Amino acid sequence: MKDKQKIIFTIMGCGSAYGVPTAGNGWGICDPNHPANRRLASSVVLRSETDTIIIDLGPDFRQQTCTHNVREISGVLFTHSHADHITGIFELPMFTQWQRGDIHCFATPETLVGIQKRFHYLFDPNITVYHYGGGRILWHEIEYGQEMVVGDMPILPFQQDHGFMSSTGFRVGDIAYSTDVKKIDEANKAFLKDLKIWVLDCNGIEVSPVHNHLDQALAWIEEIKPERAILTHLSETVDYVTTSKKLPPNVELAVDGMSFETFVQRPTCRRPLRQYSPSNI
Ligand SMILES: [Zn+2]
Ligand SMILES: [Zn+2]
Repeated sequence: MKDKQKIIFTIMGCGSAYGVPTAGNGWGICDPNHPANRRLASSVVLRSETDTIIIDLGPDFRQQTCTHNVREISGVLFTHSHADHITGIFELPMFTQWQRGDIHCFATPETLVGIQKRFHYLFDPNITVYHYGGGRILWHEIEYGQEMVVGDMPILPFQQDHGFMSSTGFRVGDIAYSTDVKKIDEANKAFLKDLKIWVLDCNGIEVSPVHNHLDQALAWIEEIKPERAILTHLSETVDYVTTSKKLPPNVELAVDGMSFETFVQRPTCRRPLRQYSPSNI
């Protein structure tokens, strides 16, 4: 095990775009008295002995970093540029201050364009944000199917269909994270072989044009056969107790704060980063 290292995944949020309860205290069909129905926006923190990676920074990012004691960030991976996955970017300069250094962010060129449209000032070398504190935010392009090393963790991004856009799934060791997905084509299903854990979008019970729903999630799990599947990005239409009763033994609903781990080979070499050149948007 000497050349292997442990990576702990913690789900900081398993809620759909508007969380549960939604703004205005909307619980839908969820029981407000069951703590598992309280869901922040979807986000995950990965921790090795020395490094911390976050997947997606939603509107609850500040609160999530306080709950999970995130003070330094080795890298941020973005699945796509929908608001519930990027709104927390606003908080990032606080972390360049804490760690007195740069923060590396990774996304596809399509997602980076979407982020740049909303956070143009964080792409402009002529603009300094008060909290930068000696570091900058550096933006890097990722390529589907090309493993990369972030901090000390090997990360494999792959393409998913999110209805009107693509989203990125990430595989780390034998765990894969597939949020905001409607379809995965055969070529990309190849990245989902021999999974111990598959964290998978299940936005609701009813069919959605852009998201996975319960019946489809269960069909995919049957096909892909991970040892264990955890359904995430859960809306106020997914009550924890009622829905859990319908799930097979290897499938469960995510709960904010749940953790699981994988062991991965320590990376021996790393591909050079591909810096994003901001376009004039
Ligand atoms: Zn989302
Ligand atoms: Zn989305």
